[in-house]
Amino acid sequence: MEDFKKLRDLMVDAQLIPRGIKDERVLSAMRKVPRHIFVDDYMQHNAYADMALPIGDEQTISQPYMVAIMTELLELKGNEKVLEIGTGSGYQAAILGELSREVFTIERKALLAKKAEERFQALGYINIYAITGDGTLGLPEKSPFDRILITAGSPKIPEPLIEQLADGGIIIAPVGIRFSQQLLIVRKSKEGVSEQTHVPCVFVPLIGKHGWPEDEDS
Ligand code: SAM
Repeated sequence: MEDFKKLRDLMVDAQLIPRGIKDERVLSAMRKVPRHIFVDDYMQHNAYADMALPIGDEQTISQPYMVAIMTELLELKGNEKVLEIGTGSGYQAAILGELSREVFTIERKALLAKKAEERFQALGYINIYAITGDGTLGLPEKSPFDRILITAGSPKIPEPLIEQLADGGIIIAPVGIRFSQQLLIVRKSKEGVSEQTHVPCVFVPLIGKHGWPEDEDS
């Protein structure tokens, strides 16, 4: 039986802190959330390795460092309503659930959404709501959101998500071409919307009405 708590601490101490992750709340959430529960049994021994891992349906759980940096960039204080696009395994949503008031997470693949929801229930997260559908449309009935996180690579920030972001809100998203992107930080205020680029990254594509077309899904 592996000592997963020890592996989690090692992940934080060796992969996150040396690369500049400083937000103590983010670091302690990553020490706490059992990442191995969010991967299939045969993959658990690799759950705390410094890489993305397959989660089935040709999708991935992001590398721990990428989860940490995206979460840190959201500047969560604890009282936010957050929208995540791309539930995948549910791991990122669980980290968000630790650090904010409530999390709405949308996944287009029904099987992944169902598995993630089962994990939220098993781990006792009552502030995370899993929805199946096209996340590029957002969730107008629950808007505005204080923070929006897109965890799939997009050609641009979907317009509905900018509309559904609250004033003072932040969107973090990988934006670029289909096989490589850069993290984009979008801030909305009464004066308008500003954009700032951050680190390069590689995510599976965001497929949907305001993302990449479905027929190019590989
Ligand atoms: N956040 C996830 C985690 O913690 O495991 C990793 C996300 S994975 C890199 C990207 C996910 O986005 C995939 O599960 C994919 O099916 C999903 N996705 C792609 N396009 C989507 C869309 N339009 N709406 C919702 N989910 C989408």
